[in-house]
Amino acid sequence: MGLQIDLHAKLKEYFGFDNFKGNQEQIIKNVLAGNNTFVLMPTGGGKSLCYQLPALILDGTAIVISPLIALMKNQVDAMRSFSASEGVAHFMNSSLSKSDILKVKEDVLSGKTKLLYVAPESLTKESNIEFLRKVRISFFAVDEAHCISEWGHDFRTEYRKIRPIVEQIGKAPIIALTATATPKVQHDIQKNLDMLDAQVFKSSFNRSNLYYEVRPKVDPTKDIIKFIKNNEGKSGIIYCLSRKKVEELTEVLCVNGIKAASYHAGMDASARSANQDKFLMEEVNVIVATIAFGMGIDKPDVRFVIHYDIPKSLEGYYQETGRAGRDGGEGYCLTFYSYKDIQKLEKFMQGKPIAEQEIGKQLLMETVSYAETSLCRRKVLLHYFGENYDEENCGACDNCLFPKKEFEGKEYLIDALNAILEVKEKFKVDHMVNILLGETDSMIKSYHHDELESFGVGSEKNAQFWNMVFRRALIANYIEKDIEQYGVIKLTEKGHEFLKEPKDFMLMEDHNFEESEEKLQEK
Ligand code: ADP
Ligand code: ZN
Repeated sequence: MGLQIDLHAKLKEYFGFDNFKGNQEQIIKNVLAGNNTFVLMPTGGGKSLCYQLPALILDGTAIVISPLIALMKNQVDAMRSFSASEGVAHFMNSSLSKSDILKVKEDVLSGKTKLLYVAPESLTKESNIEFLRKVRISFFAVDEAHCISEWGHDFRTEYRKIRPIVEQIGKAPIIALTATATPKVQHDIQKNLDMLDAQVFKSSFNRSNLYYEVRPKVDPTKDIIKFIKNNEGKSGIIYCLSRKKVEELTEVLCVNGIKAASYHAGMDASARSANQDKFLMEEVNVIVATIAFGMGIDKPDVRFVIHYDIPKSLEGYYQETGRAGRDGGEGYCLTFYSYKDIQKLEKFMQGKPIAEQEIGKQLLMETVSYAETSLCRRKVLLHYFGENYDEENCGACDNCLFPKKEFEGKEYLIDALNAILEVKEKFKVDHMVNILLGETDSMIKSYHHDELESFGVGSEKNAQFWNMVFRRALIANYIEKDIEQYGVIKLTEKGHEFLKEPKDFMLMEDHNFEESEEKLQEK
């Protein structure tokens, strides 16, 4: 109890807040207890406080590893504003002069500094490692920890060196924090930081005030104009893949009497920030942008986010749609989907290293699953983040509000699970689908999978149908993806039980976007 009262007092004293947000308090207690800690929390959840407060309380200096120089500076300024002492927080990165560095080192060694922010490339420097060995370190905080994983959206090689450097500097507890919560990324982080023993604090990623809809990309510009006219005066962001599309669409919107401005990395900095200000000051309602827009933008009353083009990953989709409804009010997330866009994205990847392409493709396939599903979109999205959403009907996605007819699919699930077992749980969904369909390709031949009992048992159905069965089985936890070899599917406990004693398994036909695309071509 004593600790609890103290913590609230410290929270008030240092930050002026009356209460902790989410599970901040438990996280902070775990850090104070000297344990390894892993925090998965959506953006805006209040991650920074989870290491700032313990750093101020504990003896010694906390080393905060953070990839973004601009954010680092903001955080240091914020910490200084809470404290009487300038030296309470410092940063070390390539922007500092020699004399700056001397001052920083002096403050740190004198014990004034409670938080030292270090860029990963500065951490790897031999001279800095030497220096840090002399410092009394309370703990290491690894911010934006997904940078460790190639499956995250911002992989950085220096992040892989953190663990060995921590060993060199001298062991101290680690707190790792990220807003990227896919089980694959989480596993990579814990393994790489050698903290599989860490206590994991995972907040829900559900954004209940957001409405999710995916529409076939038949005439997106017309749909968008109509949508905006129906939502007159509301603020919104439209994401496009290319700069060219951003400019084209802005122009079309303006011609149609909509107040819109562009934002992309090809514009010069002053034009970009002028347009950003126009959006923040509500001189324009709509900003048409590439994904360059949004990092660190804090406009709480964005009422809609439209994806003119499908994002490259569900991670990106979640971050971008997440910019709607920050104030807790409604947020409409509308995405236009066409398989042709997926093929375009695949083509863009072709020049990249093979491993990167393979990852890119897997991430893209998750997006396809999301776009084509007839299941609750919220359920699918949260499942991707390793979270089970148990409501039957979320009440705020197109599939829940306009569901398709269900039918019994027990027999199909039995076939699918048996096939997975027959190939010893060593293959990915697309290969399993080929087995069930009885399609012979080079991989089927080389593994002699055309000799399996399962080969061709599902030939009366098509690939889309079987993909849907696997998707539903994944969401319902009958099967899971292997964490080490991503994409390889295995039966869960529940899957094995199902085979022993099959239960009802309801299916719905997925949206057939191919059909609507064909219709479009006939037009
Ligand atoms: P994240 O890093 O998870 O995106 P931040 O650490 O930037 O989130 O915090 C988001 C916002 O929440 C900040 O404005 C921060 O000041 C505020 N905040 C954090 N903790 C609390 C709290 N206990 N009470 C009130 N506001 C808080
Ligand atoms: Zn739903």
